[in-house]
Amino acid sequence: MPKLFVIAGHGAGDPGACGNGFSEAERVRVLARKIKEFGGGNVILGDLSRDYYRDNGVSTLNLPKEYQIVELHMDAGQETARGGHVIIYSGFEVDDYDKALADMLADILPGRSQMIVERDNLANPERAAMRGYGYRLVEFGFITNAEDVKVFNTQMDDIASGVLAAFGIEAAGNKTGGENMGCILSVEGTKTQYYFDGQSIHPFTNGKEKTVIKKVCNGITDSIKLTKDELNDLKNVLKRS
Ligand SMILES: [Zn+2]
Repeated sequence: MPKLFVIAGHGAGDPGACGNGFSEAERVRVLARKIKEFGGGNVILGDLSRDYYRDNGVSTLNLPKEYQIVELHMDAGQETARGGHVIIYSGFEVDDYDKALADMLADILPGRSQMIVERDNLANPERAAMRGYGYRLVEFGFITNAEDVKVFNTQMDDIASGVLAAFGIEAAGNKTGGENMGCILSVEGTKTQYYFDGQSIHPFTNGKEKTVIKKVCNGITDSIKLTKDELNDLKNVLKRS
């Protein structure tokens, strides 16, 4: 299973395409954060304050070999134009990740006749190709189409999980009924931290224990702060079940 490096398109002053009250740069950053939230340790979130196109960031990346890159965008066009698609560098072979992303988009954001498109005139696909990275740029529908924007906003969890699933990464803590739930709690006014596995609360006796829990629970949410009252409420709820 690869790991994922996520680039949010535009930014650093460039809003990208705008429509229906949203800007592309802002929307794809929200999606990027969601992908990181669900993907945990399997995802590196690119610096959201940067515009990797303008600052040539792809050419200076230094990623381990197991990383695949996804760059997030939204299209602009006529109001009626709809649907997402995947862009790869011209001449490169479509891989299983591209296909899985295209299938996901055909399902959630349909409308394009061609789901995977080769382009030789975009900077980042070419830069990534020169560096030997597995890369694709994904347009998550049209920001200029009201229905696409609505789908993007309301089904963002599904889209984020779908991106991860395309790379074989399970979305932790999403729609699993609490099964994979886990977080590290700290309580106001105390030094003790706790591991909460969704059913029981376990205090750590030292930092090593916390380290190993973080190691085995990929993407665990760290340092949720509770008041003493809230900790007691949580304990009371758990007693009842
Ligand atoms: Zn864009």
